[in-house]
Amino acid sequence: MTHHPDLSPYNPSLPEIVADGLYHATFAPTYRRTRIGWLGAGHDYPVGPSPDGFRTRLLDIVRRQTVNATRGFHVCELCPRGRSRASMLAVEHNGDTVHLGNSEIRVPGAPGEVFAAPTLIAHYVAVHDYLPPAPFVDAVLHCPDGWLSGPDAPGVPTDATKHDFRPHGATPDTW
Ligand SMILES: [Zn+2]
Repeated sequence: MTHHPDLSPYNPSLPEIVADGLYHATFAPTYRRTRIGWLGAGHDYPVGPSPDGFRTRLLDIVRRQTVNATRGFHVCELCPRGRSRASMLAVEHNGDTVHLGNSEIRVPGAPGEVFAAPTLIAHYVAVHDYLPPAPFVDAVLHCPDGWLSGPDAPGVPTDATKHDFRPHGATPDTW
């Protein structure tokens, strides 16, 4: 994955694509996106213990959001070579297997600003003791429930373009 320093700007020309399975919403964000957790081999990153509840809350967000998904997947460049390179990383969380490395999350920060992180951030925090900047940790702890967790979720503007690729008449349980 391409390394970007913490708190650097996300490419403003890219839209937001929020997915829930085969149901997508696309919009040009009115907020400014700030990168967090785009770690890469050969670049130092801060480490340390994180506050109570941070890792659990971060995993909740990673499990529920699918933003700007990619066709392939990224692996962790910080793990020893040969380990975790051939298949997607995954973590267990509340009985679910959460796959990491093929999409991003968004967490609202100060007014007008939203943090943009790769889902691999959950692995970086859990396995490599990555400690993100304090404003992000605080934003995760205060992220509204369900934020950008689907095309009709809080945070998605009402004029977003919706694309529904689900089979006609299918319910989420039958995808
Ligand atoms: Zn790793």
